[in-house]
Amino acid sequence: MVSGMKYLQTIDAVRRWREGCQGKIVFVPTMGALHHGHETLIRHARRIAGKGGAVVVSIFVNPIQFGPKEDFSAYPRPIESDLEVCRRAGANAVFNPSPEEMYANGRSVFVDEDSLSTTLCGRSRAGHFRGVCTVVAKLFLIVSPTHAVFGEKDWQQLAIIRRMVGDLNFPIKIIGSPTVREKDGLAASSRNVYLTPEERSLAPKIHDALVAASHLKSPESILRAVVRDISKIPGARIDYVEAVDAATLQPLKNRATEGRLASAVFLGKARLIDNIGLPPLS
Ligand code: AMP
Repeated sequence: MVSGMKYLQTIDAVRRWREGCQGKIVFVPTMGALHHGHETLIRHARRIAGKGGAVVVSIFVNPIQFGPKEDFSAYPRPIESDLEVCRRAGANAVFNPSPEEMYANGRSVFVDEDSLSTTLCGRSRAGHFRGVCTVVAKLFLIVSPTHAVFGEKDWQQLAIIRRMVGDLNFPIKIIGSPTVREKDGLAASSRNVYLTPEERSLAPKIHDALVAASHLKSPESILRAVVRDISKIPGARIDYVEAVDAATLQPLKNRATEGRLASAVFLGKARLIDNIGLPPLS
């Protein structure tokens, strides 16, 4: 255990800890392999919780949100350095359950969002958001937070969690936190470690392509420009590039409303996702 911060591995232990809490309980769900993007989220949570409140971080590589050919086994799990990040950022407790603690054999109840999940990453990652919604709903019921912080880097996930909390009446305020980037513009991600040095030097060009196109007038011209620029990156393979309405995630028709420009691109072994705002043009 890291001193001054509770390290909790069972649901019972979280519930007992929670009973002793007062004020705001601000929750940051993660899969660990924490980087400075996560650290910013935890610090954001700390500010919301204030002196009297508590910040709880979960670290759980959720098996049911990975497809059979995805990187569940390879996903990095550096628990000691993760605990150090949580402590440094001001967390009061870390929940780090085993898969067995979270999922009983013979389980048959899942949480399925079936509108926002059908676009963007939902198309190429069948069952991913069902896994995400199920684990986040379970974590919400275990931790019982007043607030939960999610990164805008996973814009679709944030939109789906907002919808789930609305539709299922979870009494939890969802807070979006802006994407944290490396100096060269690449969105910080636990999966960036999969990049070779050469791929790492090319990866920021994806964000460059999104930013350059975001000034264009029509969604069609934006998409054409992004596809053209990303196709020039050696070894890059586009999974999708889409301009969508920021809330409904449906294709953006024009620049009169708030949009989001989102991409998923394979670079070597890594699948890199990113998104930026498309504010309405006056
Ligand atoms: P993960 O561990 O990748 O599941 O992410 C846990 C939380 O951290 C999610 O809410 C992510 O959106 C958020 N997150 C991950 N990377 C970043 C980043 N670069 N900037 C902001 N939030 C992030």
